[in-house]
Amino acid sequence: MASELELEMQAIDRSLLECSAEETAGKWLQATDLTREVYQHLARYVPKIYCRSPNPCPQKEDMVAQHVLLGPMEWYICGEDSEFGFPKLEQANKPSHLCGRVFKVGEPTYSCRDCAVDPTCVLCMECFLGSIHRDHRYRMTTSGGGGFCDCGDTEAWKEGPYCQKHELNTSEIEEEEDPLVHLSEDVIARSYAIFTVMFRYAVDILTWEKESELPADLEMVEKSDTYYCMLFNDEVHTYEQVIYTLQKAVNCTQKEAIGFATTVDRDGRRSVRCGDFQYCEQAKSVIVRNTSRQTKPLKVQVMHSSIVAHQNFGLKVLSWLGNIIGYSDGLRRILCQVGLQEGPDGENSSLVDRLMLNDSKLWKGARSVYHQLFMSSLLMDLKYKKLFAVRFAKNYQQLQRDFMEDDHERAVSVTALSVQFFTAPTLARMLITEENLMTIIIKTFMDHLRDRDAQGRFQFERYTALQAFKFRRVQSLILDLKYVLISKPTEWSDDLRQKFLEGFDAFLELLKCMQGMDPITRQVGQHIEMEPEWEAAFTLQMKLTHVISMMQDWCALDEKVLIEAYKKCLAVLMQCHGGFTDGEQPITLSICGHSVETIRYCVSQEKVSIHLPVSRLLAGLHVLLSKSEVAYKFPELLPLSELSPPMLIEHPLRCLVLCAQVHAGMWRRNGFSLVNQIYYYHNVKCRREMFDKDIVMLQTGVSMMDPNHFLMIMLSRFELYQIFSTPDYGKRFSSEITHKDVVQQNNTLIEEMLYLIIMLVGERFSPGVGQVNATDEIKREIVHQLSIKPMAHSELVKSLPEDENKETGMESVIEAVAHFKKPGLTGRGMYELKPECAKEFNLYFYHFSRAEQSKAEEAQRKLKRQNKEDTALPPPVLPPFCPLFASLVNILQSDVMLCIMRTILQWAVEHNGYAWSESMLQRVLHLVGMALQEEKQHLENVVEEPVVTFTFTQKMSKPGEAPNNSPSILAMLETLQNAPYLEVHKDMIRWILKTFNAIKKLRESSSPSPVAETQGTIMEENSRDKDKAERKRKAEIARLRREKIMAQMSEMQRHFIDENKELFQQTLELDASTSAVLDNSPVVSDMTLTALGPAQTQVPEQRQFVTCILCQEEQEVNVESKAMVLAAFVQRSTVLSKNRSKFIQDPEKYDPLFMHPDLSCGTHTGSCGHVMHAHCWQRYFDSVQAKEQRRQQRLRLHTSYDVENGEFLCPLCECLSNTVIPLLLPPRNIFNNRSNFSDQPNLTLWIRTISQQIKALQVLRKEESTPNTASSKNSENIDEFQLPEGFRPDFRPKNPYSESIKEMLKTFGTATYKVGLKVHPNEEDPRVPIMCWGSCAYTIQSIERILSDEDKPLFGPLPCRLDDCLRSLTRFAAAHWTVASLAVVQGHFCKLFASLVPDDSHGDLPCILDIDMFHLLVGLVLAFPALQCQDFSGTSLGTGDLHILRLVTMAHIIQLLLTSCTEENGMDQESLAGEEELAVLALYKTLHQCAGSALKEIPSGWHLWKNVRAGIMPFLKCSALFFHYLNGVPSPPEIQVSGASHFEHLCNYLSLPTNLICLFQENSEITKLLIESWCHNIEVKRYLEGERDAIRYPRKSNKLIDLPEDYSSLINQASNFSCPKSGGDKSRAPTLCLVCGTLLCSQSYCCQTELEGEDVGACTAHTYSCGSGVGIFLRVRECQVLFLAGKTKGCFYSPPYLDDYGETDQGLRRGNPLHLCKERFKKIQKLWHQHSITEEIGHAQEANQTLVGIDWQHL
Ligand SMILES: [Zn+2]
Ligand SMILES: [Zn+2]
Ligand SMILES: [Zn+2]
Ligand SMILES: [Zn+2]
Ligand SMILES: [Zn+2]
Ligand SMILES: [Zn+2]
Ligand SMILES: [Zn+2]
Repeated sequence: MASELELEMQAIDRSLLECSAEETAGKWLQATDLTREVYQHLARYVPKIYCRSPNPCPQKEDMVAQHVLLGPMEWYICGEDSEFGFPKLEQANKPSHLCGRVFKVGEPTYSCRDCAVDPTCVLCMECFLGSIHRDHRYRMTTSGGGGFCDCGDTEAWKEGPYCQKHELNTSEIEEEEDPLVHLSEDVIARSYAIFTVMFRYAVDILTWEKESELPADLEMVEKSDTYYCMLFNDEVHTYEQVIYTLQKAVNCTQKEAIGFATTVDRDGRRSVRCGDFQYCEQAKSVIVRNTSRQTKPLKVQVMHSSIVAHQNFGLKVLSWLGNIIGYSDGLRRILCQVGLQEGPDGENSSLVDRLMLNDSKLWKGARSVYHQLFMSSLLMDLKYKKLFAVRFAKNYQQLQRDFMEDDHERAVSVTALSVQFFTAPTLARMLITEENLMTIIIKTFMDHLRDRDAQGRFQFERYTALQAFKFRRVQSLILDLKYVLISKPTEWSDDLRQKFLEGFDAFLELLKCMQGMDPITRQVGQHIEMEPEWEAAFTLQMKLTHVISMMQDWCALDEKVLIEAYKKCLAVLMQCHGGFTDGEQPITLSICGHSVETIRYCVSQEKVSIHLPVSRLLAGLHVLLSKSEVAYKFPELLPLSELSPPMLIEHPLRCLVLCAQVHAGMWRRNGFSLVNQIYYYHNVKCRREMFDKDIVMLQTGVSMMDPNHFLMIMLSRFELYQIFSTPDYGKRFSSEITHKDVVQQNNTLIEEMLYLIIMLVGERFSPGVGQVNATDEIKREIVHQLSIKPMAHSELVKSLPEDENKETGMESVIEAVAHFKKPGLTGRGMYELKPECAKEFNLYFYHFSRAEQSKAEEAQRKLKRQNKEDTALPPPVLPPFCPLFASLVNILQSDVMLCIMRTILQWAVEHNGYAWSESMLQRVLHLVGMALQEEKQHLENVVEEPVVTFTFTQKMSKPGEAPNNSPSILAMLETLQNAPYLEVHKDMIRWILKTFNAIKKLRESSSPSPVAETQGTIMEENSRDKDKAERKRKAEIARLRREKIMAQMSEMQRHFIDENKELFQQTLELDASTSAVLDNSPVVSDMTLTALGPAQTQVPEQRQFVTCILCQEEQEVNVESKAMVLAAFVQRSTVLSKNRSKFIQDPEKYDPLFMHPDLSCGTHTGSCGHVMHAHCWQRYFDSVQAKEQRRQQRLRLHTSYDVENGEFLCPLCECLSNTVIPLLLPPRNIFNNRSNFSDQPNLTLWIRTISQQIKALQVLRKEESTPNTASSKNSENIDEFQLPEGFRPDFRPKNPYSESIKEMLKTFGTATYKVGLKVHPNEEDPRVPIMCWGSCAYTIQSIERILSDEDKPLFGPLPCRLDDCLRSLTRFAAAHWTVASLAVVQGHFCKLFASLVPDDSHGDLPCILDIDMFHLLVGLVLAFPALQCQDFSGTSLGTGDLHILRLVTMAHIIQLLLTSCTEENGMDQESLAGEEELAVLALYKTLHQCAGSALKEIPSGWHLWKNVRAGIMPFLKCSALFFHYLNGVPSPPEIQVSGASHFEHLCNYLSLPTNLICLFQENSEITKLLIESWCHNIEVKRYLEGERDAIRYPRKSNKLIDLPEDYSSLINQASNFSCPKSGGDKSRAPTLCLVCGTLLCSQSYCCQTELEGEDVGACTAHTYSCGSGVGIFLRVRECQVLFLAGKTKGCFYSPPYLDDYGETDQGLRRGNPLHLCKERFKKIQKLWHQHSITEEIGHAQEANQTLVGIDWQHL
């Protein structure tokens, strides 16, 4: 079947390929009816090309389509082969100066904060880098796809609209030139014709709605019965639902289903079945049935294949058109013309209109194709962009209506194009004046919010999911309105004024529907049953906030508009308040001889609403008027007389009283919705158009009325009138045993009321209210934020309101008020308030939350104490009010105010009961202070204001009038300053009295009649001095106490390891280093220290005591005692790997005996250095295990450690561990029983002896394995060889260790084996000892690398945990043979030995180029005792060690010579040839003889020696470390400091000649033999002949990849990256491996692979090949570092990229430019080098349990 189909396909293809473009085009040129001709051609061929098989094969289809269908069209346009035609067009083209690059998903975009007209103006990376903006303040974001580069759009940029590239073009081009002049008449005519036909074809077929019938002129003669079951995308069903349904409906595998679902999600539709009608219908019904249960079913259509074919081609045509117009701006213009030309059906019949109006009916893929075409055509041609914009505006309402019904995201809706027109200033202006766009948008918006209450206000009460969905969509209209308003007009035409005011009217209608919405009534008795809906109203308010501000900005630009708008707004407000005094009789209030009438209204009993946008808009406009001149020059133009101040203040006052009552706890039963509303009312996102404006409105009202009247009305609204109007009410109220809650409530209300008065008088920092500018306002905000605490840039930004351009204006003023402190390796940069700004601090700053206020108060008082100042926080000096608001200050000296002050002070003096509070007093003091400041300023500006009418000082000295008869305010303050219960406020009272006197002096100096100073003040001076001394004494006591507490605290903190890790680590290192000193510095007088061999420095026996962290018992470390162990963590490692493509394929068969020099897979052991008894540890581990089992049964939770794999956390430091290492004394001392070294064999002799012993062993081994075959022969053999002298192969040494130590030796050995090879534990496996030696060698090598990289000395002060770990590890590895099979270890030794000294029985050993010599050395030395213990000839262990070292060193030197880089690097020889150089030359000659001519000639001995010296250093260093820890010989002091290379010292310490070549000379008898045998290996030959490569020395340390300095180049790199599996799709979470630089498609279905039977994401899969399970990644879109270890462990880590404010931006939310912080990146690299990634993850997961729940393996 398949083959038949293929054959058919091929046959068709052949016939198709015969089609000639020229011929077809020729025919068309002759045609009279081009449309018919072309349609015939399409009808015939399209179904033959597209949809020939169940699965699409787009490449092939497109290729044939290009040939058969598009080729002729191109020919037709060009009149010749397009291969020649298009380049000609391109050449003649004068390209547009617009960049217009359409952004891909994830591509970086840039916006200049200095020059962009609005934040939607963006540049592509290329343009940005070539623009002036790269040196400006810019923001970087990643595009969500769609949208294009605005480079070249002069309207988008205030400055520098062109980048270098696009600038070139503009200089040549003349504006307004018609691009058609570059085309010939013929081309124009032909293009016009074919574009008309094809564009119409595409639109017709894409909007075609029938499922099995084609348009008549495309219908085929013979129709097959092939249908597709087409599945469409929706936003309702989940991926999983679709996948599940498909498996059921069309019987496919899960993988296929995932494929279908992915395509449906991406393209919007996909055929899931192909066949006859019935067959497809069947699948459709299953899908519909399965998905219709809860929601509407998935959309499925059964379509005839020919329709699908034409639709596919239709899409192809659209993208083809997009490509063609790219050759010439002329062609683009023609296409635009074709697209916008009205069709025969008149209005809305152009192709563009038809597409737009069908948008919501098209599937996703079709939409994005035509949107793209619009962007590259209509939006790139300025003339047609305008016409298109008009069409868009005319269709606006319909498009929005469609969008509301559409279930796709806005990004794929044509309505999203609004940003392209509305943000372009001239277009927007044109649309406003000609299409009345503002009004249209607002009306459309109102149309969609139909639910109103009886008063016509919006109602969101019954708020269903569908409504919520629609409501979300409606909000995009507000966004459009914002776009339209975002660029403000510079000039006003009458037309614009008229249309703007029309729009303003519509806007007022909208606000009117919001005024008073969501009213609430206080709930008494019962708690509310259901939280009322409040979010919708607030969302609306929040979304409108910027629009409201922008409306005001527009008004501010034109006086005429402002006055008109003001009038309109006032009129609407009066409508809203219509009937506001109806019915009720007014009541009369009177205090101190003043009286006023007001309505009867109680916030606590009647309806009140937080939503008052009309009042607030009026307040905003009033401030603007106050700023303008018109208010003073032509006040008659203003409707000021119509203003009724009591009406203006009424609603804002109610709202503020509501807040006060909520705070006083009176609205508790109204639930959280109210609390939330109050919160948002004050929140930085809303307050600008809510709370702030209410304050302004009150200020406006008060400035127009008698302050006494206002205060009485306010008292009444706060429901406090009774308390202050009844003379004795206060007394009664405080003495009476009223309900305590009520008293408390009233106290809070009084406090709140006083606070409100403070705000009304003190808040003058909005331009227009006070005489300030916008800079002063923002400065003040910052000063107050930083008064709370120092803040990072982002924190500060969050606390400031942003304008519509997302700007806070902070950067321009921050320098003036704050110092910046740079961040360290962690943390972020901080801004600190400049000390001189502290005087601007206002304790009652109106944007403080209560918590912030008390924090700020505390911080400021502390600061004052530190500066040894008094702690008064007096009100700051304020700027003067603007004239319209000037009378506000009179509140402070009004009679009612003085009465209130006096009353409260009186309460404080009487100090009885709880009917009084300190906060109350504090506020009164603040108010008094404000009044004094005001008076002082008036006096100081006396020149300007000849008559000072502000006389607070006089009034405060007067006693209260009857009937109260209270003493004067001054007198009461003087009384209070000595009140013992007011200690905290003393400084403030003192400040008031001082200021009072200062003012008096001022008055005296200006007035002729001086008044004598009262005695009271002199007394006061005296007592002040006394007080000062007393306070000083108290302060001292307090300081001492604080210090003591601090000391206690830090003591306690030591126990809280988690809370302060760094502190803990310090102490940890301190503790252990003392123990290390004890252990490490035996008294050795000899200055030449030797680590090994017969001359090894004898170290006096050291007794070592350690303490178990679990039972706290001390214990000596020795062979017989109970084992002490260190918690340890063994892991596989590729940190040193030079070949990441290599990893262990089959661990069961893998032979680890020889480590390849590429170190591709090592086993690393680390330890936190904490010591335990073995049995204590075992008990601990068992309990962890038991607990874990119980826990897993209860709730299947992950932990940060995997108990089943033997993992646990160190009981002290919670460091991740998976085994323990036993602590041992130097193990060689136990066996090295010889002290007389007089007659030790030399190297040659020793090698001979060992070879004999090996031979003997082999014979014996053979005998054992084949006991039956001719025993005579065996005895013969033994006779023949003779057992070497003193060799007793039957001897079995006694294991010296205690049982418990032996057990621990086995435990750690098995763990290393299990983890290193990833196999099941098996302590009998012969590879166990090899893995132990390997881990020892590998760990030493990795530490040597770290030390060298950091330029640290080899034996410098090593962190003690490392020191402990290496010592234990080395000694453990050396002792392990005692618990392994002797024969096995001997076997390993023989094989290792044979790699250097060949024998007959080991044939297939690696050549010396393929052996890591240090691993070999460690293996040989540690296996050697197994052989040596049977040697009783008198050769010591030390001699053997030394000879092994020398032999391996020789091999290494040959290795170095063979691989040394032979290119002369041009460096000159420094001195004459020395001894070493001559020797190495001689050696090289020998090598040359052995290796043959393939070895390159090297003329310079100096060069060779230099290479050898450099190459061998790491080996020498590792060996020194190894023998140091093995034998416990202290290191020579010279090597303990950094600096020189220490080559000589190392050689001495290792008992090697400093001229290493001497090793060869001294043993000349065997040198040649050895070299020959090494060089004769076939691999060496192949290497020398260049057939293979080898590792060169010294090996360079691995580094993490180089990261670019600028983060955006990473984003760019990632945006070019597409998923490697799903053919060109953009990856959603591109993730960079920092180890090897591979980009991966993370966190996505497409790139999941199977690993060990589980599905894992691309990152996890990658760690297995790249990092042995450990990975370090950068998630590029998130700017976040990801650590992974194994499948279940992972954590996020802060990225090494910082913005200019020293902050990271995880998630790239802020968009500040990010630059590489090298130090932080080094820190990550260090973690990696130290093998600490897993540990870091463990700590992170312990600290943050949510990390444990993340599915790391799917990343
Ligand atoms: Zn660009
Ligand atoms: Zn550009
Ligand atoms: Zn700029
Ligand atoms: Zn213990
Ligand atoms: Zn520990
Ligand atoms: Zn990698
Ligand atoms: Zn992928």
